[in-house]
Amino acid sequence: MNWKKPVTRLALLLTGLTTASCVLAEGLAYGISNTFNAVATLPGQDPELPGHHDSDEIEGVLLALHARYPERTEVEGIGLTHEGRPILAMRIANDIADPGFDRPDVLFIGGTHGCEPASTETVLRFLVFLVVAWDELGELVEDRNVWVVPILNPDGLDYFYAGGPLWWRKNRRPVVGARWRSTGVDLNRNFPLAWGHEGGGSSPNPDSAMYRGPEPISEPESRALHDLVMRRDVRVCFTFHTFGNQYLYPISYEPRDPEDIQFYQAFCTAASELNGYAYGNPASGMIPVHGRLPNGDFDDWMQGDRGLADRSIYKTPSLSMTVEVAETLGATYFEQPDVNLFFLETVVPNLCAIEIADDPYGAIDSLAERMDRIDARVYEILNGMDGGLQAVHDLLLPGGWLHDEGRLAYQKMAKARQRAREWAETTETKR
Ligand SMILES: [Zn+2]
Repeated sequence: MNWKKPVTRLALLLTGLTTASCVLAEGLAYGISNTFNAVATLPGQDPELPGHHDSDEIEGVLLALHARYPERTEVEGIGLTHEGRPILAMRIANDIADPGFDRPDVLFIGGTHGCEPASTETVLRFLVFLVVAWDELGELVEDRNVWVVPILNPDGLDYFYAGGPLWWRKNRRPVVGARWRSTGVDLNRNFPLAWGHEGGGSSPNPDSAMYRGPEPISEPESRALHDLVMRRDVRVCFTFHTFGNQYLYPISYEPRDPEDIQFYQAFCTAASELNGYAYGNPASGMIPVHGRLPNGDFDDWMQGDRGLADRSIYKTPSLSMTVEVAETLGATYFEQPDVNLFFLETVVPNLCAIEIADDPYGAIDSLAERMDRIDARVYEILNGMDGGLQAVHDLLLPGGWLHDEGRLAYQKMAKARQRAREWAETTETKR
């Protein structure tokens, strides 16, 4: 299949950015990276393309990261999908042996929707940078628990990579009781707050791409995320999706601002200075109102049910935003230069969220100054890495230690799993 490269985002960014950050400007100057342009298959749907990771490979990367940095990382299975894939979270902290319940948690999520591999790859690159550069980031990330779930919906992603429809958002659990082999629920319409609000904005029809499920958190993936959040103290959370170059904050289900509007606006204004992303919610006009606003989405639930209702317990809210990387749909099934830029575009606001997690409100007036400082710091760190701005990406390519050790680590894990299964079957037969 021939695929024609759309207008490159490099050019768009160069004309679209008013204030280019250190990190971004350098990335653009490097032309990150023009080496992978000539790809003959549909980008994004071939897991063998350099830099694309299916769920097995992502598991391998997490295992390899943990093997190299056991003192600051742990890999936790937070759930199991219908097709038996583990839903994995990595926690990063200074003293990982300590469960860290006295420190604030910050959470980054990729791959809620199967057809949005660029979101997973962006989060994966952020994770790699965070772990590898942890010591250098120093006080910026000290006394935090950073949680990263690079792929929330591994069944959906692998189905997409296996040639499923380009628009496949949902997980892969067959809908029980549906009239005709309907499969999958839109996980970002499956959360409890305003679930199925006034009938629109999500679908009761199991065949719809935005099927909301038979009830809230009916799915193993949404349940896993729900349970993780409920047992931790998540102060700030970013869920990565594609596409639009936007930060979307609550409230989604009706045109109304959340109680925390001041924080969201201040944060997004500062972030936008660096990366040019637009921001808003339905009340601000960002999401066009046609009476079909998204409901049952994760951000609203974090902000509402868990954020506002739990303030008596946690004192601080759960601030939750959706980050839509990729300017165009074409970049969603991404090209290599794009996904590196998505990482560069979002790394500074991500780190800033970690830095301010102990007191997001107290930081409102200093967000722009903080992001400038962090931008310079990231620039320094990336430039100091072997391979410069391309370094993080190169680790994930064949020849990079993360890629190579990740493969081996996954094979080992897969073998161990197989042995455990066989053992379970033997004992089953003996009984
Ligand atoms: Zn999405």
